[in-house]
Amino acid sequence: MSQQDCLFCKIVAGDIPSGRVFEDERCYAFNDISPQAPTHILIVPRQHIDSLDKADAAESGLLGHLLLISAEIAREKGFAEDGYRVVVNTNADGGQTVFHLHVHLLAGRPFVFPPG
Ligand code: 5GP
Ligand code: ZN
Repeated sequence: MSQQDCLFCKIVAGDIPSGRVFEDERCYAFNDISPQAPTHILIVPRQHIDSLDKADAAESGLLGHLLLISAEIAREKGFAEDGYRVVVNTNADGGQTVFHLHVHLLAGRPFVFPPG
């Protein structure tokens, strides 16, 4: 399932080091290398999916899992009550730069809407 030239597949496999936050059989969460907020965590499926645009109904449970894990991490780290933002950048106009589906979990400061 992993793709040879995919950065996040290499991180999931442990071939590239990362600041692990959480993992289970379906996903891996780690600190973003270039944080845009005091807390900036990426939650990625172990299975390679290029983007939300490429996900299909067979992955609906996995997509829900990524969101529920994001909420669980937020509660465990103690910022759920203050609030946080989850973001799934998709394709070029969405600002996606790494083409392995991932959820950004951002917290520790207020966020404006709409984002830039
Ligand atoms: P995107 O722009 O695709 O939505 O998000 C990709 C994210 O991956 C960016 O926030 C970027 O800082 C992060 N990133 C890129 N390369 C690495 C890396 O080698 N390690 C970690 N931990 N994060 C990375
Ligand atoms: Zn991948």
